[in-house]
Amino acid sequence: MEDCIFCKIIKGEIPSKKVYEDDEILAFYDINPIAKVHVLVIPKMHIQSLLELKEENKDLLFHIFEKINEVSKIVGVDKTGFRVISNVGEDSGQAVKHLHFHILGGEKLPTR
Ligand code: 5GP
Ligand code: ZN
Repeated sequence: MEDCIFCKIIKGEIPSKKVYEDDEILAFYDINPIAKVHVLVIPKMHIQSLLELKEENKDLLFHIFEKINEVSKIVGVDKTGFRVISNVGEDSGQAVKHLHFHILGGEKLPTR
């Protein structure tokens, strides 16, 4: 996807502050954090949102959640707690059409 910001971050065309990277995924700090700790976890494969997931992506999805667990430890929110959010489509305000999971923590989060 040529004009996808996250694909550009994966290719290194846009710099990011990386937390974790392997062949399948990348975790990096959000440029405009809405909590003291705000990390994004994305697959390197361009998938638009959760709505596009297919059976063949099940290992990738499990890998993402395993690494969300690991990233929470790296950034030090595993003991205090955190929230995982994936925005999908118009009403959610999804701005970047590349599947991503927000990890929010480092402080008490609003309950709604
Ligand atoms: P969405 O609203 O699509 O769920 O979230 C997209 C997130 O990507 C936003 O929180 C926004 O701050 C973040 N973001 C957008 N562009 C960049 C960028 O170039 N670098 C980083 N690190 N985050 C970005
Ligand atoms: Zn992309």
